[in-house]
Amino acid sequence: MSRFLSGRFSAFEAYTPGEQPRDKKYIKLNTNESPYPPSEKVLERISKEEVMALNLYPDPTGRALKEKLAALYGVEPEQVFLANGSDEILNFAFLAFCDAQNGAVFPDISYGFYPVYAKLYRIPFEEIPLKEDFSIDFREYCGQNRMVVIANPNAPTGMTLSLGQIEEIVTSNPGHVVLIDEAYVDFGGESCIGLTKKYDNLLVVQTFSKSRSMAGARLGFGIANAELIADLEKIKYSTNPYNINRLTLAAGEAAAESDAYYKENAKKIIETREKTARALKELGLTVLPSKANFIFAGKGRLDGGSMYRELKARGILVRHFEKERIRDFVRISIGTPEQMEALVSSVREILAE
Ligand code: PMP
Repeated sequence: MSRFLSGRFSAFEAYTPGEQPRDKKYIKLNTNESPYPPSEKVLERISKEEVMALNLYPDPTGRALKEKLAALYGVEPEQVFLANGSDEILNFAFLAFCDAQNGAVFPDISYGFYPVYAKLYRIPFEEIPLKEDFSIDFREYCGQNRMVVIANPNAPTGMTLSLGQIEEIVTSNPGHVVLIDEAYVDFGGESCIGLTKKYDNLLVVQTFSKSRSMAGARLGFGIANAELIADLEKIKYSTNPYNINRLTLAAGEAAAESDAYYKENAKKIIETREKTARALKELGLTVLPSKANFIFAGKGRLDGGSMYRELKARGILVRHFEKERIRDFVRISIGTPEQMEALVSSVREILAE
């Protein structure tokens, strides 16, 4: 830390993203990226012409992409917010909807960025423990009267809440934002975007990083009542009006036109997930029921940290979290069938040693 950093950040701990090592080529199953490339349409859109237009700023309103997403999800373009990855929407939501008097609540085991934003903005927050089976008890989020943030499917468990349960949380917290982070919804979850027509306090956040194979482009979107979207726009225009670069906007439009391709990939990933989960269970591991593009597995003979290290030594990267309750687990992103066969073989070998 330099002597220039403001004192309010001296005890502040930043979020640690999954490692992106450069030392050798790994089978990379640690950051929930898609193993499949973006659609051909995306490649075609990033043309020489598009690159040669980089001397111009992008459209700060992102209107063309908003219209495509609105059509895809059956909402109005005014109900769509575009951001530099869904992380940016989370960032803006904590900034816009919370303060010292208006706190936030989220599960104790969920996306590790939520408490980081809360601490960054000095927002009082509570982390509600998951139940013994790692599920979320939706009743505990009803009547909270502060911002509720829930990833559905949750990360790193992959477990889901039903639409009915989400609706109860939304109706019981009127006047406070309920943010449902649907980063992984396309792998078997049920989106609550439809509920944004009925409720003005529901913000649904999605990303192009997972099912749409564009983690490297940084594109996320939020869908909510138009007034709530206008609040987020206010924050965006107060920080970075051109938050999405020209190439990413173009790629996003092409990706939004390639829905069939991405749905097909999601189907393949779901099949691979189920097959991998069965194989790991046969090896004696506990595997939580996942509706995401990763599985959370562990409680075998080895603790999660050792499993992570042994796999890394064999050229396979997975994610391990040091938190007490999940220390025995590793989170494994779903890759291609071949990558997952290599993973299962390595786990078998490690357990046999
Ligand atoms: N929400 C959840 C639950 C995530 O796991 C991630 C990925 N790390 C994100 C949001 C952020 O994704 P991105 O910024 O790439 O859209």
